[in-house]
Amino acid sequence: MYQDKQAAVFERKVKVFKDVYNSTRKSYSKITKLLYDEIINTPEVIDLFKQAKDASTEEQQIIRNALYQLLTPTYTSLKTINIRQLHFHLPNVSSFLRFHKPEKYGDSLLGIRYSLEIANTEKRYVEGFEEGRIYNGFRYVYPLFDEEKRHIGSVETSLSFKALSNDIEETLGDEIDFILKKSIVEKKVWKSEQSNYIISQINSEYMNENVNEYTPILSKYKHINQSISQEATRQMKKQVGFAICKDNTIITFIPIGNVQGDKNAAYLISYEKSEEVRTIMNDALVLLAISTIILLIVSILIFVILQKIAKITEIATYDSLTGAYNRSTMNELLVYELERSKRKNKTLSIIFLDIDDFKSVNDRYGHEQGDLVLKKVVELMGEKLRKSDRLGRWGGEEFLVMLPETNGEEAVLVAEKLREVISMDEYRIPSIVTCSFGVATCVNDDNLESMIARADACLYKAKKEGKNRVVSHL
Ligand code: GH3
Ligand code: MG
Ligand code: MG
Repeated sequence: MYQDKQAAVFERKVKVFKDVYNSTRKSYSKITKLLYDEIINTPEVIDLFKQAKDASTEEQQIIRNALYQLLTPTYTSLKTINIRQLHFHLPNVSSFLRFHKPEKYGDSLLGIRYSLEIANTEKRYVEGFEEGRIYNGFRYVYPLFDEEKRHIGSVETSLSFKALSNDIEETLGDEIDFILKKSIVEKKVWKSEQSNYIISQINSEYMNENVNEYTPILSKYKHINQSISQEATRQMKKQVGFAICKDNTIITFIPIGNVQGDKNAAYLISYEKSEEVRTIMNDALVLLAISTIILLIVSILIFVILQKIAKITEIATYDSLTGAYNRSTMNELLVYELERSKRKNKTLSIIFLDIDDFKSVNDRYGHEQGDLVLKKVVELMGEKLRKSDRLGRWGGEEFLVMLPETNGEEAVLVAEKLREVISMDEYRIPSIVTCSFGVATCVNDDNLESMIARADACLYKAKKEGKNRVVSHL
């Protein structure tokens, strides 16, 4: 009878542990999906990264720097939720940019990172646990394609086992440890990093990550670990979850499979201390009930985190009032585009524009109406510009438009089109709204400052000559 009850308690314990593990893992999977949809698979990132695979070493360095700049705010916010790795790879499965180690790139990961091989050969999404060169982790790998559906490489985010077990620890309230199969660690981890692992006290075919925070749990449960070693080693061969009770502690094991299909590449182990086995039984019943609640809480948490990531990225990239790029993003885009145009011998033009007599709009109709005019002007311009053009808010009522592969004459035509649409449209206020425009086209020796200064001088001239006009020559 007691045996039966104990078996039932163990079974429940394993189930709850698995549920929490799965929901935690899934929550990260959803976060990385959102990251891919909203941030990575966007024209800014793809336009940049697609050039990497056929570029020279020097060009690759420029692209790497630009990508690093562009996604650093995102990486910073990912780290706050324990995603410490963001890694881009080329189609040949070599490392292109590791945000956690940007100085280390170019090494081939063929034969080491199976998940990357699948993502780049079968060109599909891969998710799962995998040991790497430096860290082990839960990997989420997306193949990447350009707008013509050509394969351009892959991107991976991953979460360390330790981060995941910390999350589970918080949710379950038990102490959590994990062990990894020794043969895999020995095969995959760089020799220089192997000293980070020590043989498990429970099963000599497995290893612990020798991280400082983990030493307390190992010394605390050393005695228990050694006395359950034989029984646990025997049960681990079955490759399913199980629990053992020793010294009023329930020790629960769940196997973790890896991407390559090894069903017990790792184990998560939970230690729950209870005064009496009877209370343990009650606890297990309560646990089952709360596991449903936990799932709910985890879902809410994911939602909050997703919103936070989206928000941080949005704030860092766009102007909150108009939705145009903000000045710092525009600056980055311009620096990159100028460099690229020079390298490829392409033309590049910019248009600097400023709303005419905007102060009087505010004075006569109020600040709120002024804000609406700003939004409307951006909306009207957005409709007229090409997909490859970029529009940013440079200051209060000043905007900058970047026109790649556009010469001076074409840029003047674009500016005229913008001038016309802005001045022809009806606003909520009874006055007409107009803008003045200065156009500059890249010449040899130009840098960003000299180009903007020229456009600004043209704009100034347009204002002086009576506003609502386009000027491209001084
Ligand atoms: P000009 O034709 O010479 O450009 O004259 P102007 O009145 O447009 O230029 P000025 O620089 O004198 O005034 C710009 C005004 O833009 C003043 C400022 O209050 C307003 N402004 C700047 N940012 C915002 C904003 O975010 N919302 C609103 N409503 N007004 C803004
Ligand atoms: Mg103005
Ligand atoms: Mg102004």
